[in-house]
Amino acid sequence: MNKDVQPIFILPEGTQRKQGRNAQRNNILAAKLVAETVRTTLGPKGMDKMLVDALGEVIVTNDGVTILKEMQIEHPAAKMIVEVAKTQEDEVGDGTTTAVVLAGEFLKKAEELLDMEIHPTVIVKGYRLAASKALDLLDKLGQPVTENDTKLLEMIAQTAMTGKGAESNKEKLAEITVKAVKQVRVDGKVDLDDIKIEKKEGGSIEDTELIQGIVLDKERVHPGMPKTVKQAKIALIDSPLEVKSTETDAKIQITDPTQLQSFLDMEENMLREMVKKISNSGANTVFCQKGIDDVAQHFMSKKGIYAIRRVKKSDMEKLAKATGARIVTNLDDLSLNELGHAAIVEESKVGDENMTFVRECKNPKSVTVLVRGSTEHVADEAERAIIDSIGDLMAALSVGKVVAGAGSPELELSKHLMNYSETLSGREQLAVRAFAQAMEVIPRTLAENAGLDPIDSLTELKSAHEKNQVTAGINVFTGKVMDAWKAGVIEPLKVKTQAVSSATEVATMILRIDDVIASGPGQQMPPGPEQGMQM
Ligand code: ADP
Ligand code: MG
Repeated sequence: MNKDVQPIFILPEGTQRKQGRNAQRNNILAAKLVAETVRTTLGPKGMDKMLVDALGEVIVTNDGVTILKEMQIEHPAAKMIVEVAKTQEDEVGDGTTTAVVLAGEFLKKAEELLDMEIHPTVIVKGYRLAASKALDLLDKLGQPVTENDTKLLEMIAQTAMTGKGAESNKEKLAEITVKAVKQVRVDGKVDLDDIKIEKKEGGSIEDTELIQGIVLDKERVHPGMPKTVKQAKIALIDSPLEVKSTETDAKIQITDPTQLQSFLDMEENMLREMVKKISNSGANTVFCQKGIDDVAQHFMSKKGIYAIRRVKKSDMEKLAKATGARIVTNLDDLSLNELGHAAIVEESKVGDENMTFVRECKNPKSVTVLVRGSTEHVADEAERAIIDSIGDLMAALSVGKVVAGAGSPELELSKHLMNYSETLSGREQLAVRAFAQAMEVIPRTLAENAGLDPIDSLTELKSAHEKNQVTAGINVFTGKVMDAWKAGVIEPLKVKTQAVSSATEVATMILRIDDVIASGPGQQMPPGPEQGMQM
C-alpha cells in the first residue's frame, strides 16, 4: 500500500457543498418559508402585503406573483417556488398563491415521510401518481362553459376579483371584462394584447369604463382642430408628415433672399400636397406614428381634420384592429378603402390630462378598458384585478370547463385521493395519502385567513363532502359550509389543474436534490433559512 495517498479534489478550492439530508432539509425549509409568506393572502379575506423596493416605491397587493416577484429571493430552492408562481401567472394568470401554498404543503408532508425514513424517490413516485389521478378527477369535476354563458362568465370574473382592492365594484368590473373578452374573441381565441388597459388615477373605480375602440394618452396636435369628430374616417399613417428627411442632414446654400422664399414655398407646397392627399381620401382623422410638421398641422386644422402624432407602433396596430383601417406608409396609397371607422373620435379630459378616445367602433377586434381609481395604488390594484379576471375568463373559455371554488375542489380531490391510496401498497400509499392531506391546505387556509377556526370549518366541510356535496366550500363570511357553485364562486378548471401540476413538479424536483454545490468565485452558499429568510 502506498502510504502517501494524496487527497483528491474534484471541486475547486473554496467550493461549498451541502449534501444528503442537510441539503434536502435546507431546501425544503426555504421553500416552505416562501409558501408561508404568501399563505396569509389566499382567498377573499386574505391580507395584503406592502412592498417597498430599493427606490422607495410602494406596492400594496395580495397578488401572489406580484409579492414574490418583488421580494428578491436569493435561496435557490426558494427561487424555484417563485418560478412556480411565474409559470402559473404565464399559463393561467391566476391561482399563483394556490400553486405556491400547495407546493409548500407538499414539501411539508414529504418532510414527515422523510422523517419516517421513506426514500425521496418513493415519495416522488407517489406524488406523481397522485397528481395524475388528481388531474383526472379535476377533469371530471369540470362543468362546461361557453361564450354564451354570460352570467357564468361574470361569476368567474367576480371570483377572480374577490379579495382584491377593487372588490366593492366587482359587479361592474366583471361586466366590463366579460364584454371585453367576448368582443375581441376571434375563432375561439383571445389575445390579451387586444384588450388595452389604460390606467389613469383620479375619479373612482366606479368610473372605470369599457371603450369599444382605443384610448390614447395623447391630445390633438393643433388647437384649431375639431375636438370631436363624428363618423370618423380614420387614416393610419406610419411615415412622417414632414418634408425634411429624418435620416440625412441636408444643407442648402442660399445666395439670395428670393431663393429662400421659393425654397420655403416649395416646402409648404409639398406639405399642402400631403394634406390634400389625406383629405382627398375622405379621411377626417389621422393617427400618425411619426411627426407632423407644424405647417401640415395648420393645413389639417383648416380642413377640419383631427390628428395626433407619434402614436406607438403597438397602438397603431390596435387602432387598425379596432377601426378596420389599414396602416399606410405612402400617402399615394391612401384611399377610402384603407380608412377605418369609428362613430366618435374625441379629445376629452381625464383627470388633468387630455386623452384621445376612439369610440363606438363597429365590431372592434381591439378594445380598451380605461381604469380609474382615486389614488395610484387603488388604480394599480384595480388594474391587477381586471387583468386577473381577464386571465380567468380566457382560461375558462380556452378549456371550456369551470369548477366551483372556496376549497371545494381541493377537498373533493383529497377525499378521492384518500380512497385511491387504499388501492396502493406500502410506502407509495403513504405518499399518496400525504398528497391527499396536503390538498386540505387550501380550504384550511381560506378558513384561517377569514379568522375562522380551521379545525371546525374543515371538519364540517369534510362531512359535507362525505355526504357527496361535491361543491361544498367554505363561506368565509359566516364560517359555515356553503354550496360554492350556487354562491357563484366559480373558477376556471385550468387554474386548478395548472396549480396541481406545477406544485407537484417543483415539490418533486426539490425532493430529488440531495446535493447543493456552490462553486465559482463569488458564489456564496445559499444562506440557510435561519440566516436570511426569516419572516
Ligand atoms: P390565487 O392567487 O391562488 O388566485 P386568491 O387570493 O385569488 O389566490 O384566492 C383564491 C382562492 O379563494 C380560491 O381557492 C377561491 O376558490 C377562493 N375564493 C374566491 N372567492 C371566494 C368566496 N367568495 N368565498 C370563498 N372562497 C373564495
Ligand atoms: Mg386569484
